[in-house]
Amino acid sequence: MNLEMRRIGAHVSAAGGVQNAPLNAIEIGAKAFALFTKNQRQWKSKVLTTEGIDAFLENMEKGGFRPEDVLPHDSYLINLGHPEPEARQKSLDAFIDELQRCKQLGLCYLNFHPGSHLRKIDEETCLDLIAESINRALEATSDVTAVIENTSGQGSNLGYRFEHLAHIIDKVDDKSRIAVCLDTCHTFTAGYDLRTRETYDETMNAFESIVGFDYLKGMHINDSKPKLGSRVDRHHSLGKGELGLDPFRFVVNDERIKDIPLVLETIEPAIWPEEIQMLYGMIGTS
Ligand SMILES: [Zn+2]
Ligand SMILES: [Zn+2]
Repeated sequence: MNLEMRRIGAHVSAAGGVQNAPLNAIEIGAKAFALFTKNQRQWKSKVLTTEGIDAFLENMEKGGFRPEDVLPHDSYLINLGHPEPEARQKSLDAFIDELQRCKQLGLCYLNFHPGSHLRKIDEETCLDLIAESINRALEATSDVTAVIENTSGQGSNLGYRFEHLAHIIDKVDDKSRIAVCLDTCHTFTAGYDLRTRETYDETMNAFESIVGFDYLKGMHINDSKPKLGSRVDRHHSLGKGELGLDPFRFVVNDERIKDIPLVLETIEPAIWPEEIQMLYGMIGTS
């Protein structure tokens, strides 16, 4: 691929309606974006209106965004591996609703954190429950791909080892609708170094052999406040945290990373335009 065509953007606000997300992305010079299609801290969701959907599609076109340039993120409340059946069902219902919202918006991905065992079941049992929930959600919906995000492994969150992602993918029946998103901060705080050419290659080669770049459909581009392997999830602006700038130069120049959304979730939205420009400026410099 032509690296200059990379789709770099940020997780923008959808305040006032989903149709505002593509407009906010255009505003900051983004060629990709993430959004919440509902309030991410509440269970209930407002039904998407025809007007909202139409305006969203119009604004997608205005920005030249393709469905695969958009990485909707699900609610933080959802835990597909919840040890208690009732709570897990509630999460599954909400997850299905989110998949349907993505489809209504003409989008093709839903990015989510795998789930947490809450110290009540072991990791493997929890990973199996997550895969089972995904299977049920995919059966109940169509078209939209479930995109598992790797995590820092904070608390009892799973998904902090590439093996966790592989375990889930292995147990999902429809491999055409499962994918992964790598978050640079989560990768690093989970214990995978990215700071030098050698460590970056070591980490990405491990990802390739355990999961595979074919499954990689998005990345979150974040520096990290906490140290390597701290298992703490705190993002930072690019170059201001423990990662420094080199890992981002490696990412934008990595030919194995295809034409996928590279989405900032850094902590200072005011400098997203500069961060996006900086990332584009790094192309060809590694
Ligand atoms: Zn992320
Ligand atoms: Zn995070």
